[in-house]
Amino acid sequence: MSHLMNTYNRLPVAFTHGEGAWLFDENGKRYLDALSGIAVNTLGHAHPRLTAALAAQAGRLIHTSNVYRVLEQEALSDKLTALAQMDDVFFCNSGCEANEAAIKLARMYGHQQGIDNPAIIVMEHAFHGRTLATLSATGNRKVQAGFEPLVAGFVRVPFDDLAAVEAVAQNNPNVVAILFEVIQGEGGINVTHPDFLHGLRKLCDAKNWLLMLDEVQSGIGRTGKWFAHQHAGIKPDVMTLAKGLGSGVPIGACLTSGKAFGVFKPGNHGSTFGGNPLAAVAGLTTLEVVEQEGLVANATKQGDAIRNGLRAALAGVAGVADIRGEGLMIGVQLDRPCGDLVKQSLEAGLLLNVTAESVIRLLPALTYSDADSKLLVDTLAPLVKKFLGA
Ligand SMILES: *Cc1c(COP(=O)(O)O)cnc(C)c1O
Repeated sequence: MSHLMNTYNRLPVAFTHGEGAWLFDENGKRYLDALSGIAVNTLGHAHPRLTAALAAQAGRLIHTSNVYRVLEQEALSDKLTALAQMDDVFFCNSGCEANEAAIKLARMYGHQQGIDNPAIIVMEHAFHGRTLATLSATGNRKVQAGFEPLVAGFVRVPFDDLAAVEAVAQNNPNVVAILFEVIQGEGGINVTHPDFLHGLRKLCDAKNWLLMLDEVQSGIGRTGKWFAHQHAGIKPDVMTLAKGLGSGVPIGACLTSGKAFGVFKPGNHGSTFGGNPLAAVAGLTTLEVVEQEGLVANATKQGDAIRNGLRAALAGVAGVADIRGEGLMIGVQLDRPCGDLVKQSLEAGLLLNVTAESVIRLLPALTYSDADSKLLVDTLAPLVKKFLGA
């Protein structure tokens, strides 16, 4: 037994190395990775360009702190804001920290307008992290239970429901921002409708609210656009990123534009590690490789292939309720809890995840080949059929 604190239900497997879409365990057994470390390994495992860039950077400089200019961080900020068409960015180390920055920024924005008790609208089934503020913003009692008192200042509405947000707009003068996922990840791969995003953009403009999008899971090309909100053609005021940004090296980001730009002044927020040279090079190399290898378009292509393949293979199978998502953010909704499928897949050499009890979640690397996608479908479909007794 190790001395690790008992916070995870871990599967009984440990990996020694990986290559592309594959992970290898201590016994040399190989697994097709359809989880990517929970949407983190954008470039798959051991991508030669990332490996070389990290090795070179580690040999030059790993960390100096934000007491000084960090040139690698400046370069990443230029690339990221250009891709997002946003104004500036704060770097941290994780998704919850990126959302903490957004929540603090929204409160500061409210105070600057004389609102003493600023409130942020959040959604049911949301997941924003495990720090006190972000678990309070999260719409899942299991994440919150036992940690009360929760952080105040959040107003919850149903997901993807514009009328519910408009009702809050009518009667709550303290609202300063709305924070949500364009596609909910932990909540079960729930996709917002473009109409909802268009309506919210208008409402936020009319009410002077910040439209804050948590793209920690959906960002960095995963859904077939650089950022999931780009499918609807809207622009947020604040966007948070993390998971896929560093391809496995911890890095988070909070971007602003328009009226969210310039809210923080020196001394208002900070991070010791945030955007250090190694993490910034991981982010910059990830963005460059995604761009140069055409991986955003590949996410669309492979995502369509996987969804269509599963739809064909599972057509008419009772118990399969829905196959949904965008690009390589894929959910297979069953009509019953299916946590057992995780272990059954593991035994069959396939790594996936089940979320919201009954949704099989697939988050393959953006480097998946046609053969990888076909193998995923050919391996998963029989497992699902067997699980459902079909
Ligand atoms: C994973 C996730 C987070 C939290 O990220 P951490 O790096 O675990 O803190 C926040 N928001 C969304 C949408 C996520 O998927």
